[in-house]
Amino acid sequence: MQPQPRRRICKRRAAALVSVTALTFAVSTSAGTGRPWPGSSTTGSGSAALARSPALTPCLISGASAVQMSEGIPTAGGYAHSTGTVHALTLMVDFSDAPGQGDALDRFHEFFPQTQNWFRTASYGRLDYRPETPITHWLRMPKSFKDYGIERGAPFDPGYRGLVQDIVAAADPTVDFQDYDLLNVLMTPNAGPSALDTVLSVTFAGNAEAPVADGVPIANASFVYSRQDDGSGSYDHTGFRVLPHENGHIFGLPDLYTPEGGGAVGHWDIMSEDWGADNDLLGWHKWKLGWLDPSQVSCASRHGSTEYPLTPLATEGGPKLIFVPLDGRTGYALELRTQAGNDESVCRPGILIYKVNADVDTGSGPVKVYDAHRNSGGCTRSPNIQAELSDAPFAPGESFRDPGAGIRIDIAAADLDGNYRVRVTRT
Ligand SMILES: [Zn+2]
Repeated sequence: MQPQPRRRICKRRAAALVSVTALTFAVSTSAGTGRPWPGSSTTGSGSAALARSPALTPCLISGASAVQMSEGIPTAGGYAHSTGTVHALTLMVDFSDAPGQGDALDRFHEFFPQTQNWFRTASYGRLDYRPETPITHWLRMPKSFKDYGIERGAPFDPGYRGLVQDIVAAADPTVDFQDYDLLNVLMTPNAGPSALDTVLSVTFAGNAEAPVADGVPIANASFVYSRQDDGSGSYDHTGFRVLPHENGHIFGLPDLYTPEGGGAVGHWDIMSEDWGADNDLLGWHKWKLGWLDPSQVSCASRHGSTEYPLTPLATEGGPKLIFVPLDGRTGYALELRTQAGNDESVCRPGILIYKVNADVDTGSGPVKVYDAHRNSGGCTRSPNIQAELSDAPFAPGESFRDPGAGIRIDIAAADLDGNYRVRVTRT
């Protein structure tokens, strides 16, 4: 059955250091039919290579159909595929009232090669991300930036529709849009407000009724504005991270921050915090994206007590994720987080425990991390990291309990190689 085409818009938030309350927009309208980009399939496109086996079936939680962007597995159709080679058409755009300053390729290099390196590391080499720039100069829009009326929270219509149509018209003589899986629009940084005041960067994902180019809708497009530069001198190192966040939506991942900020997940996933030091994705997201094999995921659905091994999430190979399903929509996920790979700021390694709720929409808190050391203030001094949750992981000897659900999780041991054993007891 053809999945219902839906429109998904994910707004981003400003840096944690900004006092303005973040807003989240997840807008949906009923939509006509349309064919996704050729890189997309109509079913489970975000997880084309999803690890599945009969033993994992109880852990395939799903949300109600009203949820726009769900943590459920498998991911709904219409998103770009997240394994294998992904061709990312990347265009640098400027305006008469915000002319590009310097070489457009310098803007490109604010995000590359870091973004494809980030995806290669996060996916254990399973996502081969190819940014492509068939147009190497600033693509000038026919209207001024002001005239497009792009504002925080602007829905696809009418400003973005006009903007995307103008981008298509300007690029079409050079670009065959059928050749690409997604579109990145890197705006000249002087268009719109500073990201310190308002983050305009946005992604329209799984949107089959988007403007059409070369016969295919621009269904998955990320727009990056300004620079996420907190003035700490780390921009060259960390400023690219807005793009893997935005592209995460293109692969079907929801926002994990909430209107209250990053307090639900902290710095444990780039869909929660993409300012500051580099971070990885949750193991749940890696499974959802098709980056884990069935043998790397354990589904703890049976009664009794079972011990499971876990190896660091950031390193390739070995068991990575234990999921303890509660019902068809929710469950607890367990993984071992250490300072390695994209996780450069982990200050207290251990077992991260979080609840996944496939029935909660993007930006409303679909994931909640449990803090093993509540009200400790955390262990990090790194800027732009939600500090309290930085020491959330559980250490050997510590345990987590949900008496109502009859679930107890004990961190049994860590060996000299840094691998852990976790005991899950269900009564
Ligand atoms: Zn987002």
